Amino acid sequence: PVKVNSFLNTLLLPYQDLATAEEKEFVIDLGEEQQIIFDKKRIHQLLIILLDNALKYTAPGEKITVFSSIKNGEWQIKISDTGIGIAEEKKKAVFERFYRGEESRNRKTGGYGIGLAIAKWIVDEHQGKIELTDTDPKGTTVALRFPVK
Ligand code: ATP
Repeated sequence: PVKVNSFLNTLLLPYQDLATAEEKEFVIDLGEEQQIIFDKKRIHQLLIILLDNALKYTAPGEKITVFSSIKNGEWQIKISDTGIGIAEEKKKAVFERFYRGEESRNRKTGGYGIGLAIAKWIVDEHQGKIELTDTDPKGTTVALRFPVK
């Protein structure tokens, strides 16, 4: 079993430092510490994909929030950003391999549009769910849900 909060803190602190250096706000909101069983390497890889995106599509002065809680036999993680957002009609396509938004193709930041396809694959492999919604008032929220074993 893995201590969820200590796993997340170790992973998130470098992102918090990076965000601070880029003048972005980075809020970590963790529930009660619990021990659960999951594939640390895969979940680490998944969260890195989502956190890299959250930072990449967020400008200085904007905010990224990471929320985690375990209840009713489910682990929920939410990564919200107040960045450029994903249009409703693109929300499905972004999970396809090699899909990149026009804004991204025109940017200097690199990428092959493979990140979210891998993320979806890892989530499926863990019987989880991944959902994209809009952050209020703007930006993207990625919600993950996993059954707790
Ligand atoms: P890049 O992100 O540079 O396009 P990538 O390999 O990271 O390359 P994915 O992670 O698969 O690509 O993301 C696919 C597309 O989804 C991106 O090109 C971008 O248009 C959109 N996207 C992903 N995350 C976000 C986000 N947090 N905010 C806005 N758009 C996003």
